[in-house]
Amino acid sequence: MIARVSLEIALRKEFDYLIPPGLAGQIEAGSRVQVPFGARKVLGTVTALAGESAYANLKPILKIIGTQSLVTPKVLKLARWIADYYCCAPEIALKSVLPEAVRREEEGWKKQLFVRAFPAGGEFPKLPKRQQEVWNIIEERRELPLTELVELAETTAATVRKLEDRGLVEITPEISERDPYAREHILPSQPLPLNPAQGKALEKIKAAMRHDEDGGLKLEDGKRGPSSICRPPSSTFLLHGVTGSGKTEVYLQALAHALEQGKGAIVLVPEISLTPQTVERFKARFSSGRLQTLVAVLHSHLSAGERHDEWHKIRQGRARIVIGARSAIFAPVEPLGLIIVDEEHEHTYKQEEAPRYHARDVAIMRGQMENAVVVLGSATPSLESYYNCKKGKYTLLELPERVDNQKMPRVRVVDMRQAAKEKGPPIFSLQLKEAITQRLERGEQTILFLNRRGYSTALQCPKCGYVAQCPNCSLALTYHRPEQKLRCHLCGFVGAVPAVCPNAKCGNPAIRFAGTGTQKVEETLAKLFPNARVRRMDADTMKRKDDYRKTLGDFRAGKTDILVGTQMIAKGLHFPNVTLVGIIYADLALHQPDFRAGERTFQLLTQVAGRAGRGDVEGEVFVQAFTPFHPAIQYARRHDFTGFYEQEIEFREQLKYPPVSRVALLTLRGRNEDKVKFSAEHLRKVLESAVHSPQSTAGTANAKPDCGLKTGDFRDLIIAGPAPAPLLRAEQFYRYQIMLRTRAMSKLSQTLAKIIRTLALPDDVTLAVDIDPVNLG
Ligand code: ADP
Ligand code: ZN
Repeated sequence: MIARVSLEIALRKEFDYLIPPGLAGQIEAGSRVQVPFGARKVLGTVTALAGESAYANLKPILKIIGTQSLVTPKVLKLARWIADYYCCAPEIALKSVLPEAVRREEEGWKKQLFVRAFPAGGEFPKLPKRQQEVWNIIEERRELPLTELVELAETTAATVRKLEDRGLVEITPEISERDPYAREHILPSQPLPLNPAQGKALEKIKAAMRHDEDGGLKLEDGKRGPSSICRPPSSTFLLHGVTGSGKTEVYLQALAHALEQGKGAIVLVPEISLTPQTVERFKARFSSGRLQTLVAVLHSHLSAGERHDEWHKIRQGRARIVIGARSAIFAPVEPLGLIIVDEEHEHTYKQEEAPRYHARDVAIMRGQMENAVVVLGSATPSLESYYNCKKGKYTLLELPERVDNQKMPRVRVVDMRQAAKEKGPPIFSLQLKEAITQRLERGEQTILFLNRRGYSTALQCPKCGYVAQCPNCSLALTYHRPEQKLRCHLCGFVGAVPAVCPNAKCGNPAIRFAGTGTQKVEETLAKLFPNARVRRMDADTMKRKDDYRKTLGDFRAGKTDILVGTQMIAKGLHFPNVTLVGIIYADLALHQPDFRAGERTFQLLTQVAGRAGRGDVEGEVFVQAFTPFHPAIQYARRHDFTGFYEQEIEFREQLKYPPVSRVALLTLRGRNEDKVKFSAEHLRKVLESAVHSPQSTAGTANAKPDCGLKTGDFRDLIIAGPAPAPLLRAEQFYRYQIMLRTRAMSKLSQTLAKIIRTLALPDDVTLAVDIDPVNLG
């Protein structure tokens, strides 16, 4: 017998090995094995068994790692689809389907020492600086291998032992902490009587689950793109419900139905909304009663031990419901009846490093492979999903009203061009200032949103135009007031603030800060409303794990009047006493060089506005904008998703952007700009000949390097570029991009995989392939 093995050294290829007689019968698809590779021994995963091989002189497998094959055949098939469709090495895809903690255990990780925060009682001692730094990491991670901690903290085991002596940590040879939520006491919840719209949605979902139960579907080989998935329209749903319309209650009752059918389920939520409150809502429903089951939670803040345990709970079938971020889509739930993707439009479902998969699309593919019903939910669906409804691929379910007849908040757009005339662009318009004053008087709460942290977004010389730039990136530096430094938000560079303009020919001492960040909003509020209790929530103030919970807890308890924040506060928060939301600059995201800029702005405004008026008092939203008549802003003002969709899809049709077609983004990256540029031009030529194209149409009226290639498989293919990436330089690397657009993405992926295998690039230039990118940066 032959085993096909994908190797950990991540070559874009699999290799055949002999199964020695001693291991016959033990090795199956999904087994982890050690094999010889040249003079080395490397680990890999068996992806298939075969009777014979096309190659002669095969070497035998050396040994099998662990006892149980960890990757189930179904998840293995999913990993293979990811490797094919997203154009990455099989091992890279395989790696992402198993948590590191589970893989490593099989390889003897268990024998390591683990450091774990000890449930602390009493006063926390004042620690020497080094120990405090080490403690911060332990507190954040709760549990991690000693070797990893020593490396992360750049410290020694002796320092960690000092913390152990103080009784703050425990060092043991076992992964141990079991249930990350065990300490919390959760009150059970009962299903609510549904309103008519919820009831109708639930009935359709249940009907589809019964249909799939009958096994009415025949699978086809999953080598196709998610949008071309051919399923009966009854199996994938888009639940479009305005903020506060009770989507979660529909999920909960659909989950109960899956359990009744003896099936399990996966619930995906964006990492940012995986708060204890969200998890609690699911645990509360299934922690007692007839359907009682364990709810497993998977997310990036779990310790290695917790992740290991949660995974095994699922694998052993003890937990039937999994709630987690992106990678939870690979949880070994069997049989799988239902997959829910909440906030399906969220870009964080896309993984930004290889494998660059989109968890929503993987969910749909997995649903198809395993006959599970998929429910995508959002108040602001992605254009992709809504388009698929229009095309009859998904079924649209709508919850058009808030529960309990709460009104949607009244949204007012403030024209900042008018306000700016008075003296420079102000942070607060008169209207917003007045509205805040009112809320303070009435004891109601306000949320202010600005998606830019720091104090000022640029340091600029008004005389010569000099702007302080990051030395590593093509990005302006942001001024941070508390530490009086300039920072790069991309690479983390920190620089001093120059006293005079650094331009040698200028030297103007009147160099000044421009642009507003959350720190400046907070400071200005303190001046305008000296008695208001203001808190800021952004990446700078939310450094520790507990900060988030504490700040929101204080806000809920009414200890804060005004909460200022970045996108961190845009979603999912439900505070009945918030009656005012102010969006400081609504057009920030509008002018980015990305075809989704309008869609993103619409989504963000709608989501932020949805934080207002979730109690008895009607909410009010002020949207301050310099382009108040932009459609994204106007449709958001009217809570009109379909209106926005109709005009946006027209623009996508005209320019052949998704969802009308699909995009592959090829990014070449290197320290030497000329080499990167040259490599990109070379790649374009290779691409053109691979798709048998006629010569480029350079020199025509169209100045953009954009041309349609009309041949065979790729009749609709458009190759654009190479062009410098919107952010030409990032972390010292220059980037050039080629953008491909076609409807036949699965075919294009195959062609790209072939090209990559033989493409000759200079040693210091790398190529990244991103299929269906969400970020064009
Ligand atoms: P969404 O997820 O659509 O934003 P939620 O599910 O958070 O909305 O619902 C908002 C609030 O309405 C929650 O407090 C929820 O408990 C409540 N709710 C949901 N459905 C019902 C119902 N049928 N009857 C009464 N209250 C409901
Ligand atoms: Zn930088």
